[in-house]
Amino acid sequence: MLIDLQSVAEETHVRETLAQDWWNVLDRGQQVLGFSRPLQVHIKISRAADKFLVDGAFSGGLKVRCDRCLEPFDLDLKAEFHVYLAMRAPVHDEEDLELLDEELDVDFIKGETIDLDDVIREQIFLSVPMKCICQTTCRGLCPQCGANLNVAPCSCKDESGHPAFSKLEKLKVQGEEHGFTEKKEV
Ligand SMILES: [Zn+2]
Ligand SMILES: [Zn+2]
Repeated sequence: MLIDLQSVAEETHVRETLAQDWWNVLDRGQQVLGFSRPLQVHIKISRAADKFLVDGAFSGGLKVRCDRCLEPFDLDLKAEFHVYLAMRAPVHDEEDLELLDEELDVDFIKGETIDLDDVIREQIFLSVPMKCICQTTCRGLCPQCGANLNVAPCSCKDESGHPAFSKLEKLKVQGEEHGFTEKKEV
């Protein structure tokens, strides 16, 4: 969706519902698989001197891949964002530009049009948590056979586990015992 910034006198509102197929196959990252329902988008573009402020909000649902079990699941998506857009102006002064960069999150644009789709896509990626877990109790995959342990326990012997973990477990038990005796003495 191209917006001609020159046509923004004071402010322009864009309300749109992005259909599920808006999320192109090419956009697919490792984690985001697509929309689980259409995305409601409201964007306000306002002119602020030589810059443009983009205030946006969207809500919908994403299909994402669980980091533990790798199964897709639905993630509610609701976020607001604020981005400043500025035409790439000739650099007046190094200091000026540095100040600008620190104070505001400014995206420099070339030309006089912006593609709101790019802005929305970037904001969707930014709103996805670093770690997506389908449920807090997700058991993930068996490190040995790769079976999804949420579906059924696998038949791998658990005897060894990871050496580091069993060591930790041991320490934890010792610590608890220690804590208990101390308490008893008091
Ligand atoms: Zn999971
Ligand atoms: Zn297994």
